[in-house]
Order: sequence, then C-alpha cells, then structure tokens
Amino acid sequence: MKTQPVTVDGSVTHALHEAHQRFANNHHGKNASYIPYLASVPANLFGISIMFCDGTHAEVGDTDYAFAIESISKVFTLAHVLDDIGPQSLRSKIGCDPTGEPFNSVVALELHKGRPLNPFVNAGAMATVSLLKAENATRRWAQIESTYQAFAGRDLTVNEEVYASEASTNQHNRGIAWLLQSYGYLYADPMEVCDVYTRQCSVAITCQDLVTMGATLANGGVNPVTNTRVVTAKTIAPILAEMTLNGLYDTTGDWYYKVGLPGKSGVGGGILAVVPGVCAIAAFAPPLDVAGNSVRGQLAAEHLSRTLNLSLLH
Ligand code: GLN
Repeated sequence: MKTQPVTVDGSVTHALHEAHQRFANNHHGKNASYIPYLASVPANLFGISIMFCDGTHAEVGDTDYAFAIESISKVFTLAHVLDDIGPQSLRSKIGCDPTGEPFNSVVALELHKGRPLNPFVNAGAMATVSLLKAENATRRWAQIESTYQAFAGRDLTVNEEVYASEASTNQHNRGIAWLLQSYGYLYADPMEVCDVYTRQCSVAITCQDLVTMGATLANGGVNPVTNTRVVTAKTIAPILAEMTLNGLYDTTGDWYYKVGLPGKSGVGGGILAVVPGVCAIAAFAPPLDVAGNSVRGQLAAEHLSRTLNLSLLH
C-alpha cells in the first residue's frame, strides 16, 4: 500500500499541480445564480490548497481570491455551538441524518414535523445559529465572527456586496425560519436568525483561509498556524460525523464513495475535505453541479485523495 504523506513533500506538490492541470479546462457546471452576486464571479477561477497538521502547506492557482464561504460556514458555527451545548443536545435539537432532499427543501421539513435532521441543510444551519447563546443580533454575530477568525488565524470580513445580494433575495430562507419556529425547532427570533445566517454565508475567505480552517479540524481543534486551540478536541468527531453524512447535500454518498473523506461544500464554489490527524484540502472553482457542489473542486479532492492515499476507507 502507498504511504500517506504527513508533511508537504515532492509527492504532494506534484499531485497538487497535476490536479490543477488536469481539471483547469473542465467547464462543466454553472455558477449559482439564485444569489445574483455569485453569477458574476469569473467561472474560470480555480485554486487548490493543502495544509498538514504540522502547518506546512502548498497551493496552486487562484488560492488568494476571496470568495463567499456560503454553506461551508455551517461547519464553523456548528463547531462553536457543539462546544457550547454538547453533541447529545445538538442531536436531539437538530440531528445528524441526511434529508435526501436539496439543501433548501421545505418538503424535507414538513416530512419530519419541522425537525431539520442535520445542521448542514439551511433549516438546520439556522437552527444552529439560533442555539448560539446571545441576547441580540450583535452578540450572536460577534460569536460567529470570532470563531471563524480563530479557525482562519486572521481577521475575516463580510463581503457587503454578497450580503446585500443575498439579503434581498433570501425570501425562501425566511420562510424556512418561520416554519422552523412554528414547529418549535428555532430557539431565537426567526428574522434575527435568518439575517445572521445570511451574514455568515457572506463572509469572504480565500482557499488559504479555508485550508487553515480545515487543518484546524484535522489537527484536533488547534490551529496549526497560530498554535491556538479553537475548539475542544471532543467536538471534532461530531463535526466530522456531520460532514461525512451531510457535507455535500443530497450527493454526499457519491462524494464519500469517490473521496472517502468528510467534506463540506458551499454554493460560492468552495469545498473542503478533512483527513483527521493528517491534513485538509481546500479547493475553489465557482461552477456547480446540480446539487450545488463545485465541479472542479470535487475532481481536485478526488484526485488528491486517490494519488496521496488519503481516503479513510483504505
Ligand atoms: N447562503 C446560501 C443559502 O442559504 C448557502 C447555500 C449553500 O451554500 N448551499 O442558500
């Protein structure tokens, strides 16, 4: 069996460049357009980063381009809430099971009497935001901001253009928030929660930020660049369980089959894969498949997982 790298070496940089070269001209998929700003992001952008638990990293392509974190934010808000309330409470209030439906499905909610089933569909993500212990929107936001910054190891900002674009078109999410409240699965004011959730989706990150955030998960909750503990070690397994089961929406099974790693995608084109105790892979390429996952991002992760023998199933 091939050995697995534990730091950046020649095999890692070679695999990274190979992945970029191989998929840079793949033009399948389409930018998200239901959030108008996302449709305007250049579709040819493509970056891939890898970071090991020792803090060494390698990157290729557009890894400094700031894009909207979108649904990948759900992982890091979950980390904060899990740390706070623990996995038992999280599971009873939200859950860890696939809905089998798209990430913004109202049908899925109705089928389960309002229980969101997992924190990575929009309903579950808003329920997660509502579980932050905060008496107003400012304090709720402050917790999210400081958590994301600790994961990234630097100050992050909201892309106000993305936020304005999402906030003026998020009627569907507002509907989901009200529905959740009517079923008793929202724990704060619905419109406050929906707005803070929209803001968290609008945080601008680069591939380099994303890989650092992922490497913090891979490294048991300690940011390998700043050497600061961001979440408790016991919080990592439940986060990775959610990513394993629900990270790529209704095609998570396909992803796991091919990549064999906990992952998370966002409609901004970002994608993250975590190899516990070893490294994280982040990729960014805006065009998405029908489920909402970056096409080139998935291909890059699959290539790296296979060539570097990173799958958890091997
Ligand atoms: N902000 C987006 C939404 O709420 C995030 C969805 C996603 O990335 N899948 O629809």
